[in-house]
Amino acid sequence: MSQKIAIQVDDLTVAYNYKPVLWDIDLVIPEGVLMAIVGPNGAGKSTLIKAVLGIIDPIAGSVSIYGKPYEKQRKLVAYVPQKGSVDWDFPTTALDVVMMGTYGSLGWIKRPGKKEKKASLEALEKVGMLSFKSRQISQLSGGQQQRIFLARALVQNASIYFMDEPFQGVDASTEIAIINILKELRKAGKTVVVVHHDLQTVPEYFDWVTFLNVKKIATGPVKDIFNDDNLTKTYGINYKVAVNK
Ligand code: ADP
Repeated sequence: MSQKIAIQVDDLTVAYNYKPVLWDIDLVIPEGVLMAIVGPNGAGKSTLIKAVLGIIDPIAGSVSIYGKPYEKQRKLVAYVPQKGSVDWDFPTTALDVVMMGTYGSLGWIKRPGKKEKKASLEALEKVGMLSFKSRQISQLSGGQQQRIFLARALVQNASIYFMDEPFQGVDASTEIAIINILKELRKAGKTVVVVHHDLQTVPEYFDWVTFLNVKKIATGPVKDIFNDDNLTKTYGINYKVAVNK
């Protein structure tokens, strides 16, 4: 069975102020995987996502989404940024934020209508935030905002989802709600890429993993490569204890 390639990264190098933070990364991510990117702080995990999404220009290398440059495939991709990275100074309700996710599927000038509103309300219900639909986004907790972002990504009906630390600072029930939705997306054939910190939950949550520390240490199925050797190479200390706990 040949599996389609959702994301391919070739020879990608990214630098800030001439200092490389990602070095010569090659990645082939098959369609339909739920993948964690793991690595220590400053390993370049967020930068990798931003480079794939064209938010940061690499100094070398290329990225393709289903065989084409990202600019041509924008509609296929949804992105949930890191919590707290968005400044909500302007007044917007939770429902408005979710409805923004439908804009990509509308022609320009067209405003979201009944269909988009219904889909947005359904997404809010799915993430357990329907009762907050009229609340100003700035008046929600960080974890609640994270759920709203997830709902917005859901209505985009993308093929590939990128999430930067969706579990950061959320409570246990939000974490379970989020992972269940991510697993549902995988079941629907979507490809989901998540920057993840909790090594303990990697085998339970994900089926694919990329170890990153400026360079790519390893990438592949969790069952084959999530081992002490790769953890030690990535984090520089022995992780046997942490993983086998
Ligand atoms: P991670 O997500 O793995 O914690 P990041 O991709 O955020 O790592 O950062 C990788 C490296 O790039 C770090 O050393 C960080 O300090 C640096 N960095 C990130 N963003 C910027 C920026 N806008 N300007 C300069 N350096 C940055």
